Amino acid sequence: MLDSYGRDINYLRISVTDLCNLKCRYCTPLNGCEKKEQKEILSLSEIKDITEAFVSLGTQKVRITGGEPLIREGIINIIESIGKMDKVKDFAMTTNGILLEKYAKDLKSVGLNRVNISLDTLDDKKYNHITRGGSLKEVLKGIEAAKKVGISPIKLNVVLIKDFNEDEINSFVSLTKYEDIDVRFIELMPIGQTYKWSLEKYKSNSIVLEKNKDLIKIESTDISSPATYYKLPGGKGRVGLINPISCKFCDKCNRIRLTADGKVKSCLHSNEEINLINRYRNGEDIKKIIYDLIMSKPKEHGLENGDFISRNMMAIGG
Ligand code: SAM
Repeated sequence: MLDSYGRDINYLRISVTDLCNLKCRYCTPLNGCEKKEQKEILSLSEIKDITEAFVSLGTQKVRITGGEPLIREGIINIIESIGKMDKVKDFAMTTNGILLEKYAKDLKSVGLNRVNISLDTLDDKKYNHITRGGSLKEVLKGIEAAKKVGISPIKLNVVLIKDFNEDEINSFVSLTKYEDIDVRFIELMPIGQTYKWSLEKYKSNSIVLEKNKDLIKIESTDISSPATYYKLPGGKGRVGLINPISCKFCDKCNRIRLTADGKVKSCLHSNEEINLINRYRNGEDIKKIIYDLIMSKPKEHGLENGDFISRNMMAIGG
């Protein structure tokens, strides 16, 4: 469905939990987030009903995220219910990969097409530090498991962090030389309680190109993708740059976000949200609410004006 600026809003990101098995320094406050009561979190049937309503209004692309989606109880049932929706042409998940070895086969068998795996360093000590306790080995096993069952393509999301992983940019880029894998560098966004930390650690993605002069820009097959893609000469995979800070891409934003507690957001960088689940539970027509939400999607975000987003990223889903 077209919004009031002519953008086709066809992409729904669903956060299925705001809990996580990691505590990444830029995403999660030290003491975690306040645990919600079970009744505040969307049930499987509510996720299904809401997704169906979005699909009937033109959503073709769905991404499951979190918190960490693979710790949500009944995650395979959730994936299965959406995997059966014929009009969903692209069905993906963003995960930290820790539990992927356990779930890859089931995810594939119930209809998940592909995964984005968040991985900011290839060094196990640094991984343990940035995630406050995670094990890189588990993620690497998860990536292998996903490849083995044919979940493809695999995309690695690397958040670029000053004085942390700039020295690994070339190692990440090199992964695309021999493997059909996309490595996407994402600029660190100041959001929620980690706002200050993220502002201090921000580094523009332009450094990726400065360090890799041989990267060749290529056309993306997905015009709504926020990433600009490059390839190494003869490389099998791609290198993507996602620059929400240095070069915003609101004019092609096609997303709506559904949070685990049933709120919908039409802009990641706005505090505006609609309590969809309360209104649905009170018998209102969800399609009408979604229609109005899409029509009121803002033209662009105001992050560069210092707008402060109070929700933590782990409670939005990225
Ligand atoms: N737990 C899953 C994971 O780790 O991929 C999904 C949720 S996580 C919030 C989704 C994505 O948001 C991850 O790729 C993460 O790196 C990214 N992210 C979190 N906080 C961010 C921030 N402040 N700036 C940029 N990306 C961020």
